[in-house]
Amino acid sequence: MIEICHHGATAGVTGSCHEVRLGGGSRESGVSDARAAGILVDCGLFQGHDEGGGASSSDLTIRFPIGHIRALVVTHVHIDHVGRIPYLLAAGFDGPIICSEPSAIMLPEILEDALKIGFTRDRQLIERVLDLIRSRLVPLPYGQWHSVFSGEGCSLSVRLQRAGHILGSAYVECDAREDDAEERIVFSGDLGAAHAPLLTAPESPERADRLVIESTYGDKDHEDRETRRYRLKSVLEHALEDGGTVLVPAFSIGRTQELLYEIESLIHDFGGALWSNLEIVVDSPLAAEFTQIYRNLKPYWDAEARDLVVQGRHPLSFEQLTVINSHEEHLNTVEYLARSHRPCVVLAGSGMCAGGRVVNYLKAMLADSRNDVLFVGYQAAGTPGRDILTYGPRGGWVQLDGERYDIRAQVHQVGGYSAHAGQSDLLEFVAGISSPPREIRIVHGDPESKLALKRCFQSLSATDIIIPSE
Ligand SMILES: [Zn+2]
Repeated sequence: MIEICHHGATAGVTGSCHEVRLGGGSRESGVSDARAAGILVDCGLFQGHDEGGGASSSDLTIRFPIGHIRALVVTHVHIDHVGRIPYLLAAGFDGPIICSEPSAIMLPEILEDALKIGFTRDRQLIERVLDLIRSRLVPLPYGQWHSVFSGEGCSLSVRLQRAGHILGSAYVECDAREDDAEERIVFSGDLGAAHAPLLTAPESPERADRLVIESTYGDKDHEDRETRRYRLKSVLEHALEDGGTVLVPAFSIGRTQELLYEIESLIHDFGGALWSNLEIVVDSPLAAEFTQIYRNLKPYWDAEARDLVVQGRHPLSFEQLTVINSHEEHLNTVEYLARSHRPCVVLAGSGMCAGGRVVNYLKAMLADSRNDVLFVGYQAAGTPGRDILTYGPRGGWVQLDGERYDIRAQVHQVGGYSAHAGQSDLLEFVAGISSPPREIRIVHGDPESKLALKRCFQSLSATDIIIPSE
């Protein structure tokens, strides 16, 4: 029996980890058959509210059988899809890690950072884990079948296709065969929005007998790209008129680069004194590193972005962009900007102001009404970001590192830089499959999003729609 099991991303949006198992009896009976063989798709960390969903940051032990797992396939390098890989290795997983070529470049970098924060400060130990991960990587070009195992009546091959979510992201097609049964199972990973900058939009799979699909935005659509760009433009223009700093709390791979890409296009299209004098600062060593990786991987950009390069434009390394690495440079920049009256946009993490370099900027800048804070991402309840968004516009205050800071800076929000497909994108992805899947499993979403998407899929009368629990 060809089975799909879920070891995460069923109770929320994090901890993605799914399994295709062949020849192994039923899930209830565990893995008893010596013939059992399987693959994992992603092995991500649980974060925030989802930590109760199976593991927490202090308990990352892999609690499911892995002796029969022949390979791990990675859809993309966001930490909620790859963060448990070191723990998978510690549990004894000794198979290959299959991922796209850009993901193979980015994965050791993102895990290095995760290990430093959550695992150990021991440099040598980190290097050993990273070397082990590098030695297991099997970079697979998009669109190319790869046999994971074959024999004893069972075989399984995988193919990666562009998912348009972040650089290197892929959805995974699996051709599984057990005795006379054979089927194609597709895991969407995280899908990108149709008109996201920089990346090619995903195309529907040609076939999917069973589909496991994400539902982060299963209940809503984003603002379209032109509206979003126009709103970004007017917030920046308004904010910069009085010569202050616009602070954008943002760090995630994908979103930072999308924002830089859009800001470069605004500078190019509108010019004039305001836009040509504008300085852009990216203050985060990790964002800097990933921006560099994005720059190096131009062959994976979409046609629009590659055209700009042909025209001599540099969407991610334009003249007015400064990238800050060292802590000393960071402190100098905070101090300089707090005193100077130069129009400047600063991108710094964390995105919800709960830590990271953005906190020093906030402390130095919130009291000055010339400055602005622009939120582009979701602000969870209980974070300083949510408090600034709620109380800032009424002249309230926020607590940072135990101290109270009055907010006189202006506060704005522009939505849609989420790098995730909206509801219509998800529906289109499924509608494009030539014959509807016989089963769709909805994962990676809040309960409302999953239900909303389930309702949309109900018109597919021959399809079982399942919202799995672990
Ligand atoms: Zn993601």
